[in-house]
Parts: sequence; structure tokens; C-alpha cells
Amino acid sequence: MSERIVFFNGNWVLASQVRISPFDHGFLYGDGVFEGIRAYAGRVFKLEDHMARLYASAKTLMLTIPYTPEELSQKVLESVRINQLQDAYIRLVVSRGAGDLGLDPRSCPEPTVLILADQIQLYPETFYQNGLALASVSIRRPSGDVLNPAVKSLNYLNNILAKIEANLRGVPEVVLMNAQGYVVEGTGDNIFIVRENRVITPPSSAGILNGITRKVIMELALAEGYRVAEENFTLHDLYNADECFLTGTAAEVIPAVTCDGRPIGNGQVGPVTRRLMAVFQEFARSTGTPVEQGTSVA
Ligand code: PMP
Repeated sequence: MSERIVFFNGNWVLASQVRISPFDHGFLYGDGVFEGIRAYAGRVFKLEDHMARLYASAKTLMLTIPYTPEELSQKVLESVRINQLQDAYIRLVVSRGAGDLGLDPRSCPEPTVLILADQIQLYPETFYQNGLALASVSIRRPSGDVLNPAVKSLNYLNNILAKIEANLRGVPEVVLMNAQGYVVEGTGDNIFIVRENRVITPPSSAGILNGITRKVIMELALAEGYRVAEENFTLHDLYNADECFLTGTAAEVIPAVTCDGRPIGNGQVGPVTRRLMAVFQEFARSTGTPVEQGTSVA
């Protein structure tokens, strides 16, 4: 595979040529925002939604992105085209940029902007066919009044600690609860349960990232005739659900068939999950912004 060409502070360069300053506050303090975006069959999926979330996250952090959303969208499209990808995962990162060693963002005059498009396979295909095992972890999702979950920042330590617990337990993914003990998310995914044909996901107020895949799945489930609800649920509800699945840009829609050793439903991938996985793939591959719309590389 040839080396990826990335967008870095206004230029297209080989990935190996990217030089990020050791004084970059993204590196020193996790001060920055990002998006993970997918392209399917030469079209970028939900580009406007990702841009809206990126700029909203940046606004809260008072981080001024030195491009308009339209300009940056063009660069995203171009990153797929220039790397000759059809199906891709695009990582768009805007960090505070280089400053001095103190954490005051005012010492950073210029944000660092990086767009990297590559292929990704988060989980092996068998997990999509047969479902994966979940475990609950002791790490809690910080509540919204501590760390705003709507800001997709470079602060992923909690998720990483949860992933370490997953690794120690020998499961591919875990569920995090909030301080109230409600199930909220996976390490990088939103969570759904299905109970008596109702498709249920925790509400935004539970302290989740408002996932773009989550929103798409809620809309597709409604269109498929399922009842959809945003409701808090506990581990007990998860153990006793008929079905469970996770959603995220990288993971897409992935079934979970056990949690903490309890089979969910009959321990097999359920019919509602299968249906939603199929309609999601169909939808993702038939919508989105064509990569060809990007301006050519100067
Ligand atoms: N929750 C967290 C913590 C995440 O990092 C992600 C991945 N961006 C998601 C949920 C899923 O969001 P999306 O569907 O927008 O990728």
C-alpha cells in the first residue's frame, strides 16, 4: 500500500512528513477537537453533520478553526480522492496548536489542522456475523456537568481506561455507566437495546456523545416501523433485553450477544439488529457527498 497523503496545516504532504510541534497543546494537554468520518463507495457519509459537530465542539472550546466549514468539507472530500479510496475512514483533528508550556490557550496563535484518510476495520467480520461479548466496567462516564459529552474533544482518557479494563477482561468492548448507574455508551460507540420490538437508546441527557450513527439508526428504525425511545436503562435491563447493538462511525452497527456472561435474549444476533445492520449498509452506500465534488489539488 502506498503511503497516505494527508492534509496538514494547509498543505498536502506524505504522512511521514508531518511534523507536529512538541509544544502543540493537543499533544501536551489534549486540547483539541476531532471527528471520525466514513466514506462509502466514493461518497462521504453525513459530512454536514460531522462538520456541524466539529465546529460546535470548537466553539465551546473557543478554538477558532482557520477554515469555513465549506472549505474544510472540500479538504475532507479531497483527502479521500487524493488517496484513491472508495471506502475510507477519515480522521479530522484540530488541535490548539503550538504554544508555550503553560496550558493557557492564548499562547497558541495557530491551530493545527490534520486530515487523514485511510482504511479501517475496527472489528473482525465474525463479530458482525455472530455478535460480540460485552462487560460492564468500573470506569464511569463523567457526567455532563464535569466534562461536556457533546464536545468531541481529544480527552479520551476515560474511554481508554475502559478499553484497558476490556482488555484485562478479555472482551472486545465494554459498557460504561454514568454516575447514576444507567448504561450510557461503549468506549467509542452509542448503545441500543431492543425489547418487545422497541428500539431503546439512552437520552442525550444521560451524558452521551450525540452519535451521528445513533441518529441515523433511530431514523431508519422508525422508517422500518419500529417504536424508538430515548430512555435510561440499567445493566439489569441490558441483561434482560431481547437484543443489543452498538453504533459508531468506525464500528458501524455491531451486535452484542452477551454482557457480563449473561446471554442477551437467546445469545444470538436478533432479527431487529440484523434488519437495522442491513438497512444501515444500504443507506450508507446510497447517500453522502460524492468525493468528485471536491476541488482539485492545486
Ligand atoms: N460515543 C463516543 C464516546 C464516541 O467516541 C463515538 C465515536 N465518535 C460515538 C459515541 C459514536 O458517534 P458517531 O456515530 O458520531 O461516530
